[in-house]
Amino acid sequence: MAAPGYDGAPHSNPLIPMSTALLWYRRDFRVADNPALAAALAAHDTVIPVYVHAPDEEAPWQPGAASRWWQHHSLTALSASLAALGSPLVIRAGDSLAELQALVRESGAVAVYWNRLYEPAIIARDKRIKTVLRKAGLVAESYNSALLVEPWEVKTGGGEPYRVFTPFWRNAGARAARAALPAPEALKPPAKPLQSLAIDALKLLPSIRWDDAFYSHWTPGEAGAWAQAEAFCADGAARYHDQRDLPAKASTSSLSPHLHFGEIGPVQLVHRTQRLLAERHAPGLVGNVEHFVRELGWREFAHHLLFHYPTTPDTPLYPKFAAFPWLPKADYADSLRAWQRGRTGVPIVDAGMRQLWTTGWMHNRVRMIVASFLTKNLLIPWQEGAAWFWDTLVDASLAANTLGWQWSAGCGADAAPYFRIFNPVLQSAKFDGDGVYLRRWVPEIAKLPDASLHAPWEAKPAVWLAAKFSPGQDYPKPVVSLSESRDRALAAYGRIKGSGDGASEG
Ligand SMILES: Cc1cc2nc3c(=O)[nH]c(=O)nc-3n(C[C@H](O)[C@H](O)[C@H](O)COP(=O)(O)OP(=O)(O)OC[C@H]3O[C@@H](n4cnc5c(N)ncnc54)[C@H](O)[C@@H]3O)c2cc1C
Repeated sequence: MAAPGYDGAPHSNPLIPMSTALLWYRRDFRVADNPALAAALAAHDTVIPVYVHAPDEEAPWQPGAASRWWQHHSLTALSASLAALGSPLVIRAGDSLAELQALVRESGAVAVYWNRLYEPAIIARDKRIKTVLRKAGLVAESYNSALLVEPWEVKTGGGEPYRVFTPFWRNAGARAARAALPAPEALKPPAKPLQSLAIDALKLLPSIRWDDAFYSHWTPGEAGAWAQAEAFCADGAARYHDQRDLPAKASTSSLSPHLHFGEIGPVQLVHRTQRLLAERHAPGLVGNVEHFVRELGWREFAHHLLFHYPTTPDTPLYPKFAAFPWLPKADYADSLRAWQRGRTGVPIVDAGMRQLWTTGWMHNRVRMIVASFLTKNLLIPWQEGAAWFWDTLVDASLAANTLGWQWSAGCGADAAPYFRIFNPVLQSAKFDGDGVYLRRWVPEIAKLPDASLHAPWEAKPAVWLAAKFSPGQDYPKPVVSLSESRDRALAAYGRIKGSGDGASEG
């Protein structure tokens, strides 16, 4: 016979002792494939989901404005699904350890479970919390929900962390993903209700409304993540390899913010795409899916690097770049502002920066172009670009953003060689030849013929006249000469090259 639960209801699993655990949600906002939740439910009959709002503990990388928007809506969605399962999310704010200790006291919990995060400040905090809780006689356990492989599980033959993607992925990607875990069918509510803040009290949404367009672009939360994943499997996945570089096509998954907030996990995506292969036999689908999973591999690589090189959000992976002759701040304030506002006069750069501002997201190819333009043509430190992305991206991830910026600036893992400077005009013509993306985001130039869209300043006056376009008036002239700034960047990079960066490995 089943042991009675403390609320008098029959205990659902006689093997599980009557005890209470806290499930500490952080950025793993889902109920399915949640290893900490599954582990807690396997050992305790009552699992209370809690969230402690403590952004200052992530300093200096507290979530930016766009991330906070996402977080608000993702917490709302999570809270609704947990309530539907029977145990609403308990929300607190303040010092994480103090709040967890208070919740332990109030609920009589004997254990705290959570899924790991990999940002240096969070790792340090979590270690401290685990030690204190265990010293107090509690069970404190952490799990991997966010990655296919833990950063410490993959090493070079010499026992070092990887700094080059291909050998990293050859090693890490060969490991089979664990089985995806199902969502629980129900959660038992706490014996006595616990006080909880309203999500609005966390003040995550902007007080001055700049987020209108976000609502039409995104549906944060686990259900929204799955809707996006299914839409990708039904359409973009089959075109991924050929079209993933074309910003006008919706052929990438747009799953980055969902992945970042843990609304869907990489293990689930690997299994879902394997199922797609089993269900559909479209030509080339295997290669497309492999390419997509390889991009998930870049996400793994980014976390691997951040874990092993925790200073890289601020400092170059290769130390010789610390001496790089960036322009002084006073000399670049205006061009930085033009870049941020999408007013550089280079259409593909401005299109990307406006897409970012309006939607909180930018296509990967265009991220590379705007980052190259900032660091190489404008000679502005990559940290300025990373900081702007941090505040404006809904998928702002310390791991991926750091990798992307250091890669673009030429100072990070697997970086583009310093002499490879994207020509934004050629990139634009190659990846948005018919100007669909440019016309969408830079309507001022929409009437120009396709051939003149990518570099309006180079068009003949007759072309301007025919399009009723006045350069410098309707749309800015370029803030910098592309050829002169390219030469300047090459000279600057030339000054630090050759001092040995160890950028290759077997
Ligand atoms: C300067 C710069 C900054 C970037 N900052 C971020 C960031 O803050 N957050 C972020 O998630 N990505 C960042 N990226 C990587 C990449 O641009 C985005 O992951 C991608 O555009 C997200 O779109 P998607 O979901 O449609 O990608 P898909 O092409 O569908 O790829 C699937 C998933 O793989 C992962 N992924 C793909 N490419 C990369 C990559 N190069 N590095 C790491 N993960 C990758 C993402 O999680 C993505 O959702 C940055 C790239 C650059 C060049």
